[in-house]
Amino acid sequence: MKEFKKVLGVYGPGSTHWVGDGFHVRNLFPSNGIEKQIDPFLMLDYAGPTAVAPSQRPRGVDEHPHRGFETVTIAYQGAVEHRDSGGNSGTIYPGDVQWMTAASGVVHEEKHEREFTKRGGTFEMVQLWVNLPKAYKMSAPRYQALSKDRIPVVALGEAGEARIIAGAWNGTAGAARTFTPINVFDLRLNGGTSTEFDLPAGHNSVLVLLKGLVVVNGDKELKGEAQLALLDSQGERVSLKTRGDSVLLILSGEPLHEPVASYGPFVMNTREELTQAVADYNAGKMGRLEPIR
Ligand code: MN
Repeated sequence: MKEFKKVLGVYGPGSTHWVGDGFHVRNLFPSNGIEKQIDPFLMLDYAGPTAVAPSQRPRGVDEHPHRGFETVTIAYQGAVEHRDSGGNSGTIYPGDVQWMTAASGVVHEEKHEREFTKRGGTFEMVQLWVNLPKAYKMSAPRYQALSKDRIPVVALGEAGEARIIAGAWNGTAGAARTFTPINVFDLRLNGGTSTEFDLPAGHNSVLVLLKGLVVVNGDKELKGEAQLALLDSQGERVSLKTRGDSVLLILSGEPLHEPVASYGPFVMNTREELTQAVADYNAGKMGRLEPIR
């Protein structure tokens, strides 16, 4: 018999704020102060669901840098256009995931997509920050555009389905390449069903309910929107029982156990490295965006 992972706590959004003028987000961490227990995950913002009015000018975040970690953008509704100093650009539509490894440094902008801007509509997205181990913080940036059709789907019978964004679910490998062992699963569960699965012992893990009602391990309830369950790293088994259709994001990862020094868009190991990051950005060493012609 496998041991169930204990639910250590249930958290709502720790803060709410705007990212640029396009993303009204609820922050699940670090504002709840749980980041040590969920190493290597640094931040999770849940944008929307928000009704966005039609506009002439794309809303979003203008040119800004990142260094030392990865940004993972998961689109649920609406669309985001992205371009960066590495020459990568693309649109993230519902079901798509963008896995951007900033590593030594990337400058990018994130805006509502042109058609969505004109038309307006419901916007819903998650942005997750994944820390990089010291050994890779200054390696070359990498960009993975994981379109919906490239993300494996595992059928969970009447319970629904799991989309395997990263890691592995019962031997089905996820779409993303990662630097350390990480699982990112997007579960769409039907109401009135139950399912059980394993997350590795030793991983830090959280369940993030975007909507619905889920009872975890027959005990703790996640209800409504933007609710997070922090799980013990001990044990492996997790059971979910739904009351109502539910959307759940599951994260688990092997902890890095390295010092974290962060300043805005830079996450390094020491303060000196942060000072260097600011200097390098100001000197243009992370590149620049080409002006739009
Ligand atoms: Mn960014």
